[in-house]
Amino acid sequence: MSGLNPRQLEAVRYTDGPLLVLAGAGSGKTRVITQKIAHLIGQKGIAPRHICAVTFTNKAAREMRERVGQQLTDVKTRGLTISTFHTLGLNILRREPERVGLRQGFSLLDAQDSEALIKEHLRHAQDADAISPPALQHRISRWKNDFIDPTQALSQAEDDFEARLAALYADYERSLKAYNAVDFDDLILTPAQVFRTQPDLLQHWRDRIRYLLVDEYQDTNSAQYELVRHLAGPEGAFTVVGDDDQSIYAWRGARPENLIRLKDDYPTLKVIMLEQNYRSTARILGLANTLIANNPHVFKKRLWSEHGPGEKPRVIQCKDETHEAETVASEILHLKYAENMPFGDMAILYRGNHQARQFEKVLREYNIPYFLSGGTSFFARTEIKDVMAYLRLLANPEDDAAFLRIVNTPRREIGPTTLERLAEYARTTETSLLAACETAGLNAHLGERQRDRLGAFVRLTDTHRQSVTADPAGGLRNLVDAIGYAGWLRENASSQAVADRRFENVTDLIGWLGKLHKGDFQNKRLADMVNHLTLMDVLDRQDEESGGDRVHLMTLHAAKGLEFPQVFLVGMEEELLPHRTSIEEDSIEEERRLAYVGITRARKTLTFTLTRRRKRYGEWIPSEPSRFLNELPKDALDWGDRTPDDSAVERKARGLSHLHMMKGLLSDD
Ligand code: ATP
Ligand code: MG
Repeated sequence: MSGLNPRQLEAVRYTDGPLLVLAGAGSGKTRVITQKIAHLIGQKGIAPRHICAVTFTNKAAREMRERVGQQLTDVKTRGLTISTFHTLGLNILRREPERVGLRQGFSLLDAQDSEALIKEHLRHAQDADAISPPALQHRISRWKNDFIDPTQALSQAEDDFEARLAALYADYERSLKAYNAVDFDDLILTPAQVFRTQPDLLQHWRDRIRYLLVDEYQDTNSAQYELVRHLAGPEGAFTVVGDDDQSIYAWRGARPENLIRLKDDYPTLKVIMLEQNYRSTARILGLANTLIANNPHVFKKRLWSEHGPGEKPRVIQCKDETHEAETVASEILHLKYAENMPFGDMAILYRGNHQARQFEKVLREYNIPYFLSGGTSFFARTEIKDVMAYLRLLANPEDDAAFLRIVNTPRREIGPTTLERLAEYARTTETSLLAACETAGLNAHLGERQRDRLGAFVRLTDTHRQSVTADPAGGLRNLVDAIGYAGWLRENASSQAVADRRFENVTDLIGWLGKLHKGDFQNKRLADMVNHLTLMDVLDRQDEESGGDRVHLMTLHAAKGLEFPQVFLVGMEEELLPHRTSIEEDSIEEERRLAYVGITRARKTLTFTLTRRRKRYGEWIPSEPSRFLNELPKDALDWGDRTPDDSAVERKARGLSHLHMMKGLLSDD
């Protein structure tokens, strides 16, 4: 138990009741969780399979798994659960789907699928022009996370418009049920709900999870909190850690009040505060403390660091966004080649995903390797969605959403009228679309040619279902060949190169499926594997498979919980950070917390960049420095004596880039 201060040690050893560790960034909260896992297993004799640690993102879960692996070399951790809330929920649903109103092989719709379904309903609803699919999706998600079902939503509606939204919510839920499908929100909501009504199921999970640990607790929403409460039981065998100053998901229904609610729900709750920051230099920490002091506080916190003052954080003012990206790239090359820092120690953090594009372009130009988190996920790509839809339909023949996606991909001459009639018929006979294709009753609704085409599609799925189930990778490869998918991609791509790249993604997916099947998912159902894939994203795959020395690019949201020796916090401008909509909606405090999260990711050096103008919708708009920079004492920052001039940055970067390529050439063999 070395490497813990007395308060951390107290938190690790306290197992008599519910515990909240409330502390600022970098104070070792996550470390308390990993060490506590060791303590529970080693000292308290709790079997690893009875311990469950939960965090928010796949990346954070993987990071925690790594830390546990490094720190607990002498403790057996087999069977230990470290997962996201969503994966935990999926596992609960998967165990006995019938108990929660699903059938085996149910499908998991990702955000894109569920938006497509919502669009479909909006198209059917006659007066729904005024409603945008993402807005409705967001609304439904909020309802779900607050445990409001369609009936309640309807009864709470204050006007016609709200009532219409509630009706669409009801339609959406009905479709999910008919498709034997759940969406991401259901992964949390459904388990929490069945635990309310089915005590024996709850008991099973309480026997299983004897100790629960939750990281980043400030970002739990009501449904997640309810799940925690159920699992932890009345005696509250849990440790949760969090920091109200890092609550950055209110827009997605997170309830930082859950920190306070804990005290009401568990009167015996013990609270431990940590005050020493082990991550950052004193100067970086000073900036973070000063900035966040501008927000109102429920809990007073104070953070100090024993690390020396360190370098003064810098502010670099750039001409425009290209110049900004080039400046950062040149700084990165400098750190790498003049100061010998690995690329992997550096991170570029930004407020919005769109800001990444410029950086990607320049990093590529200079041959700087990078990881991009977030971005367009692998699983959001058209070709991957197509192939996944095949897998989903094979695993769950009732998945109508998957059916509709692929029945005519590649083209099979099955037109919209045919599909409408089929859907109508399926609705009246209460069967799935796939099942409806083959019933005799359909004869009255469709001509022979159309029925033949649908029949051929059914036979295609029948033929491949077995082989894909037995050998997912090999079976899927055959299926992709059989439908001529490569040719279809070529027909639909602007160039051969684009088509090739897309097909490579499909090949990647097949390879990955093969690996899963040989590894963790050996005796599992195809549906389990498909649902597992749906919960992952490209980042996990890249991180898991290639590793390597790369600069990290990610949004501030994705950076939560992580740390990097060198951080570039870019786009420090009004309307970017704070974000424009937050200025309009007057939710500056959450933006300030985001900036706080960004600053506190840095261990040794922190560099802010901003531009003087930025292109928006094809026009140059002058930009203004972020108010958050102005909230920091001027002399705590190094503002440089002048703006770096373009050509000098270019020259320096090109020179270093050249050097970099030379090194690359030399080290290739
Ligand atoms: P965040 O709020 O950003 O999630 P955190 O409170 O979870 O931060 P950790 O990530 O656990 O903080 O710890 C920050 C850094 O300090 C890590 O590198 C960790 O290994 C280190 N650390 C934590 N506690 C100690 C300690 N007692 N001694 C030395 N290093 C420590
Ligand atoms: Mg942490």
